[in-house]
Amino acid sequence: MATIEDKGLEQAQGERRAKRPLELSARLAGYLLKNKLKGKKRFPLVTMLEPLEMCNLACIGCGRIREYKPVLDKMMPVEEALAAVRESGAPIVSIAGGEPTIHPRIDEIINALIKEKYFVYCCTNGLLLDRVMDKIPPSKYLCWVVHLDGMEKKHDESVDRQGVFKKAVDAIQSALDRGYRVCTNSTVFRTSDVGDLNEMFSLVNGMGIEGSMISPGFDFEDAPDQEMFLTRKESHELFQKLLAPENSDGARFYNNPLYLNFLKGERDYQCTAWSNPTYTVMGWRKPCYPLADEHVEHVAELFDQNIWDKYGVGKDPRCANCMMHCGFESATIFQALKTPKDWATLIKSGAATKGGITAA
Ligand code: SF4
Ligand code: SF4
Repeated sequence: MATIEDKGLEQAQGERRAKRPLELSARLAGYLLKNKLKGKKRFPLVTMLEPLEMCNLACIGCGRIREYKPVLDKMMPVEEALAAVRESGAPIVSIAGGEPTIHPRIDEIINALIKEKYFVYCCTNGLLLDRVMDKIPPSKYLCWVVHLDGMEKKHDESVDRQGVFKKAVDAIQSALDRGYRVCTNSTVFRTSDVGDLNEMFSLVNGMGIEGSMISPGFDFEDAPDQEMFLTRKESHELFQKLLAPENSDGARFYNNPLYLNFLKGERDYQCTAWSNPTYTVMGWRKPCYPLADEHVEHVAELFDQNIWDKYGVGKDPRCANCMMHCGFESATIFQALKTPKDWATLIKSGAATKGGITAA
């Protein structure tokens, strides 16, 4: 079996890299246009589906496994998961949790969504991926998104267990060998190391993944270490270093360039978290993926003006440091619809084939 070092040297073999399907960009563009023509002000782009909150890890920055402690054993029925995705209607579905691969019927959920031509991004820590892949064939509608917060030492610290990095990298290789689309997903904290992160981005890029998604962590009040989360100003400084061309030339980012500029503090947006509604075992999170002041029964309850008068940067103190892609990457898309120059930037950068809107 190839070692991690060998895999890093497979840059030249990256030619077998699966590309983000053009159908996804075309469908997303058509969907945006249709909703705009209908005069809709707020509508979902990505449905965030959490079919369980249980996990086989206990990462130090994770709020979910603590927030949902009383319902960790709850598994969302297949029909309920599909009904939530249909109710939202967004063409992209990001499956997270908890660890989705633990759900005993995750194969039925994903295979049904693929059959209905939703573009599914399934976020996983990779530990059980091989087992699940036996039941879900590769498809252009499916991309595995493997969580990696750095190279071996840093990632294993972040997930609070030794050996996870090696297993995650092996899972990525195995998925690529079997012909799946694969991305990685990294959360950036105060404890992150720019050089270490870029080494990891370069490693997985060399292996042939579609791209690396990045986002600063959100200071979930249930996470045990509150000191690890970045302030807005610290995020700007860290991302300026992380994304500097001389530091990141081996990386292939999946986020769109406008969002990357936002992370560096070069652009300002108000959050559009209503475009990434999150359905959990307790219902739709209101108002957003990071905050759940309530759980509600219907997705339409998340689009009211009076909610968004109360939440967002400058409105709720908990939003002050939030720069997560679930709130702000879609904001870059909605703003670009009104700003031809931004739209041109997206097209020029190849966002349609390299990324454009991340999913998790
Ligand atoms: S793998 Fe994901 S869901 Fe599991 S503990 Fe870590 S962050 Fe939370
Ligand atoms: S800015 Fe506030 S409302 Fe928007 S995604 Fe972040 S926490 Fe949620």
